[in-house]
Amino acid sequence: MGSLFLILMVTIATAVASPIKNQIHLLMPHSGSGGHKHSDLNCLSWRLAVETNNLQDWTQVPQACADYVGHYMLGKQYRQDCDAVAAEAYKYAEGLNLTGDGKDVWVFDVDETTLSNLPYYASDAVAFGAIPYNATAFDLWVAEAAAPAIPGSLQLYKKLINLGFKIVFLTGTKEAFKEPRIKNLITVGYTQWEKLILKGDDDHGNAVEYKSSKRKELVDGGYKIRGNMGDQWSDLLGSNPGDRTFKVPDPMYYIG
Ligand SMILES: [Mg+2]
Repeated sequence: MGSLFLILMVTIATAVASPIKNQIHLLMPHSGSGGHKHSDLNCLSWRLAVETNNLQDWTQVPQACADYVGHYMLGKQYRQDCDAVAAEAYKYAEGLNLTGDGKDVWVFDVDETTLSNLPYYASDAVAFGAIPYNATAFDLWVAEAAAPAIPGSLQLYKKLINLGFKIVFLTGTKEAFKEPRIKNLITVGYTQWEKLILKGDDDHGNAVEYKSSKRKELVDGGYKIRGNMGDQWSDLLGSNPGDRTFKVPDPMYYIG
């Protein structure tokens, strides 16, 4: 009788051990240090959703992923991802037969495609996009003309010029910042271009509409958009997107 009781108790204990263990896991605190909420969000899955445009119209990096995005942007992975995009773009570009009439163009977006705003985004007041966008502060940063080049993009830019492409910079930056933008581009090594298109007061609509209308003007002017590179899907969607598009990583902000 005694041994049967023991066996029964062991059986019961085994049966309840797993649920208790799981319960302890479930009972882990939902708020961590600094009041940041623990989240079931997988930040790598979140970033993948961003890069594939499965996730749209997001306004800021989730709090739970602020550190993740910071480590990604400042670490080797971001730079290697940018280099990989540039390498694929070059492989494609060098296989093209250019017409030689000076009308083969490569369209580059500027922010987070050719120039990096990482020094600004890494500040505590911005936290890699986990703090809501502050247009006034960002404009002050743009006016400084201090953004470094994205190394892979700068190398690609130089190689494309050697291949005979004309470069078009198409940016959502306002015309008012034309001077600092030109200064910034030249300072870091983007020294020549066919056109630098900024957003004027008469340019209306969302980013897709604005960029589509400017690309249409290029095509109407006889240019052939052989390649188009940007960090936002709104750089690459819409009409006349180009023969091929290349998406540069950017998990810090979304422009629709
Ligand atoms: Mg951009």
